[in-house]
Amino acid sequence: MTDSPAKSHGRKTIRASAVPRDLMSAVPELARAWSAQVITLFPEAFPGILGLSLTGKALKDGVWQLSTVALRDYGEGRHRNVDDTPAGGGAGMVLRADVMGRAVDTALGRAPRGAPLVYLSPRGKPFDQATARRFAAAPGIVMICGRFEGLDQRVIDHYDIEELSIGDYVLTGGELAAQAVLDATVRLLPGVLGNADSTQEESFSDGLLEHPQYTRPAAWRGRPIPDILLSGNHAAISAWRREQARALTRDRRPDLLEKNGGAED
Ligand code: SAM
Repeated sequence: MTDSPAKSHGRKTIRASAVPRDLMSAVPELARAWSAQVITLFPEAFPGILGLSLTGKALKDGVWQLSTVALRDYGEGRHRNVDDTPAGGGAGMVLRADVMGRAVDTALGRAPRGAPLVYLSPRGKPFDQATARRFAAAPGIVMICGRFEGLDQRVIDHYDIEELSIGDYVLTGGELAAQAVLDATVRLLPGVLGNADSTQEESFSDGLLEHPQYTRPAAWRGRPIPDILLSGNHAAISAWRREQARALTRDRRPDLLEKNGGAED
């Protein structure tokens, strides 16, 4: 389901545009699929990378659904204005409360009950693997992509919106952040990854960064694969990987060790 012009093909609604966006069609038989509604000034940015590889296949297979709400459609006046100057002065423009409120009402009306409402924002709490797991366990999500200087605070307060950041840097808009959050979440949905074990062994799943990975050839530019990995001794391999993971985490992300009480066995 999108807010943009669409052609009807039997039970499906197919947009007359690029193939990846066709994956975002509203398919009635997928009513119970995990559902993402994204409010954005740039609906054409979706599904973007999410339309490819495993997330794209899952979208096509109906494991999840993706819809955009085009903020411009809710704009004020002939020019459909969505922003105005900041109250109190200052640089840039702010997304209007009335415009965003209408878009949020539309998105919430389409979203499954219990779907979290999230605003991507550099001021937000850091998005992490635990949050991705929480979102994957919900029936879906509604996301607001900001632009300019961001969103009128009254909208955030009115809907009690969860603000989430994907890192300590400032992007020009929330679309890339929304795609990062969706990617991390959708890959946790049952049936998206071929091997469910891989989400249990990867970085952050047990409070540690992942151990180094190797594959063929056995030697490359004078660098052999560590002998232990070719030993066939699974207990020793497992212990080696755990120690490597601890050492990497100690070196690069000691905060993770503190947060998880040392992540010792
Ligand atoms: N004036 C805002 C501030 O200083 O916090 C920055 C606004 S930014 C230029 C425009 C939009 O990009 C934000 O409203 C948000 O949706 C998105 N954005 C930028 N950086 C982000 C980040 N690190 N994480 C999530 N969203 C981000």
